Amino acid sequence: VDAAVQEDMLRFQETFKGIKDQFRLINRIGEGKSIDFRKLAANSRDTGTFSTVYKAEDLSYEKYHNDWDIEEKENSKWASPPVKKSRRDGYGISRPKYVAIKKIYVTSSPSRILNELELLNDLRGCDSVCPLITAFRCTDQVVAVLPYFRHTDFREYFRLMTVPDMQIYFRSLFSALASVHEKGILHRDIKPTNFLYEPDKRRGVLVDFGLAEREGTDSKNCLCHETSQRRRERVTSSVAATNGPAVGYPKNDPRPSRRANRAGTRGFRAPEVLFKCTEQTTKIDIWSAGVMLLTILSKRFPFFNSADDVEAMIEIATIFGRARMRQCAYLHGTVFATDIPTIGQGGFALEKIILWSTCRNDAGADGEEIPLTEEEKMAVRFLECCLELDPNKRISAKQALEHEFLREMEI
Ligand code: ADP
Ligand code: MG
Repeated sequence: VDAAVQEDMLRFQETFKGIKDQFRLINRIGEGKSIDFRKLAANSRDTGTFSTVYKAEDLSYEKYHNDWDIEEKENSKWASPPVKKSRRDGYGISRPKYVAIKKIYVTSSPSRILNELELLNDLRGCDSVCPLITAFRCTDQVVAVLPYFRHTDFREYFRLMTVPDMQIYFRSLFSALASVHEKGILHRDIKPTNFLYEPDKRRGVLVDFGLAEREGTDSKNCLCHETSQRRRERVTSSVAATNGPAVGYPKNDPRPSRRANRAGTRGFRAPEVLFKCTEQTTKIDIWSAGVMLLTILSKRFPFFNSADDVEAMIEIATIFGRARMRQCAYLHGTVFATDIPTIGQGGFALEKIILWSTCRNDAGADGEEIPLTEEEKMAVRFLECCLELDPNKRISAKQALEHEFLREMEI
């Protein structure tokens, strides 16, 4: 453990009353592992981190389980030995030996912290979602205690994944999404660092409900939920209201500016988030999961690398083409126009994008294309269902589990 981390852990133990009687801090984990803690707050704006997470040992564990072998068991779900049913605490989950203590930044608003804890509490017992054990507050500092889940950094394995590996990975991710979405909750920040996966265990858990929200909170009707006829009427009347020139921006646009929740991580935001849809649904998580699959198939991380929402639109438009982007914008009552020459009318097939990204377009013996295998084609068919620009047509998590790519074959 390096000196800066050691100092940070000592300070935390001293300032958070009572924590050291219950837990022994072992190390800092996650994004904060290698970042100087003094720079953490500044860094959080870019990486989307809102906390410092520590691996710790629960000291009350031995008291409770001294009759158990406390070696970490390789194949157990959590990094802890199996616990007798009667040994469960009041929360209905077994107490693991190792925990992750998530110290939420004090700069997060109290309502945001409460929201995260409430949603986690609601999601207890959901398949593949990391359960909340308990939470504490000391003055303005709040910590959440979760079972520690051993996992490998995405960057270490994603380039090595075979199609069957991807199927196992996404089956786990989509079952988590299906249970979260069934509760009417949007995660809003689906990305590799929020899905802790262990290739050996062939399973993962979803973490980080810091940006999550209930479907329908703070949402106003968006045109994407109207019939196409209503949409046409409303777009025509709002265009007439601007009374502006047919080309370019009107000087005095009387329409109220659009406000929409844009929380999430750069590169993983769904097109409807970029187009400020005011009625976002759980489908935004499916898009982000699609970006994860695109990353794995193209062997490039991050796949999208935009600095802001306009750049993000340009990246998406380059793949999907002008025509489909225009239609997508229209769906949410807005306009997409561009004269960037690299954005073609029709865009490219995802299959082509993957062949280019992996340099297979001219890697054959005589400089010809190395085509996708049948199983890779199946993965691309699934990818197309996730990266569907229209959220109404995009596959749901439940449907995804029935898709040929994720469906478990009966033997
Ligand atoms: P943030 O809001 O700061 O992104 P997260 O909940 O995503 O907070 O946690 C940050 C990181 O801490 C994760 O990417 C992961 O590496 C690690 N982490 C979080 N929860 C656990 C856990 N239960 N077990 C192991 N590591 C965890
Ligand atoms: Mg996170």
